[in-house]
Amino acid sequence: MRVLVAGGAGYIGSVVTAALLADGHEVTVLDDLSTGHADAVPSGATLAAVSLHESAPVLADVRPEAVLHFAAKSLVGVSQQRPHEYWDTNVGGSLALLEAMRAHHCRRIVFSSTAATYGEPESVPIREDAPTRPTNTYGASKLAVDHMLTSYAVAHGFAAVSLRYFNVAGAAHGLGERHAVETHLIPIALQVAAGERETLTVYGDDYPTPDGTCIRDYVHVEDLADAHLLALPAPAAGEHRIYNLGNGTGFSVQQVVDAAREVTGHPVPVVVGERRAGDPAQLVASSDLIRAELGWAPRHTDLAGIVRDAWDVARAR
Ligand code: UDP
Repeated sequence: MRVLVAGGAGYIGSVVTAALLADGHEVTVLDDLSTGHADAVPSGATLAAVSLHESAPVLADVRPEAVLHFAAKSLVGVSQQRPHEYWDTNVGGSLALLEAMRAHHCRRIVFSSTAATYGEPESVPIREDAPTRPTNTYGASKLAVDHMLTSYAVAHGFAAVSLRYFNVAGAAHGLGERHAVETHLIPIALQVAAGERETLTVYGDDYPTPDGTCIRDYVHVEDLADAHLLALPAPAAGEHRIYNLGNGTGFSVQQVVDAAREVTGHPVPVVVGERRAGDPAQLVASSDLIRAELGWAPRHTDLAGIVRDAWDVARAR
């Protein structure tokens, strides 16, 4: 298939681009390189270095049969301080992309949604029919696009899938996480192990969990790529499906720190700090729906394996 990957120079988009190429698809990456890296775009894909707002001429030129849409701002803290950037890029940019798709008769899309659309869960594991009450602008902006897709499916016959990622981690195809401002737990733990940072601050150890630290669902980026390839042809015209993507097991911050120590063989000194605003005690996905409907099954569910893949790619860099 001829596909356009919006945000294909970022962490997840670049891994999925590599998987699409390996699967025989013809890929154009659209990315304004605001947070992505041109050198992360796998060779074999063509890069159009423009923003979502400028996507119409690219669609006119490429005439894709499907779009995979990863392009977004994704820092929860910044979304609270500078919400206009999140509404402009995540919502305004997505609207521009959908309108360009409509104008150029491309109606198939897989969209990167997030667990942050749910907010504080009433119960875990979280299913797709759980209430969506985001607690930050990032989650609200992603939820707005989910709603947009539902209406485009109904009104314009779009075939759409929203994949709600939980905590994406690991590395594949030599591509891993590389953010100018790193806020995620696993890359930070590995930076401490590598001696690039002195300590890791554990954001609270008084949560109602077995070891007192927060529990998250770490899903391997390669398993995520599998899900995109399965989701791409799945919906019929007029259908918008929503699937959670997690590995099915939660791991605590303390368990991640222990895995980083074990995998790297280096000390990872920690200090216990205050809770981070807006952090729920537990976020674990039920991925039963995508398993049942698309036959997806994560292959890398072992925490140490996920951390090891991230470490190997970070070290190679
Ligand atoms: N966390 C932490 N110290 C850090 C970064 C993260 O204790 O330096 C915790 C955070 O409070 C959360 C978990 O690690 O419970 C995962 O956070 P991350 O930012 O990686 O992902 P999120 O769950 O916020 O999407």
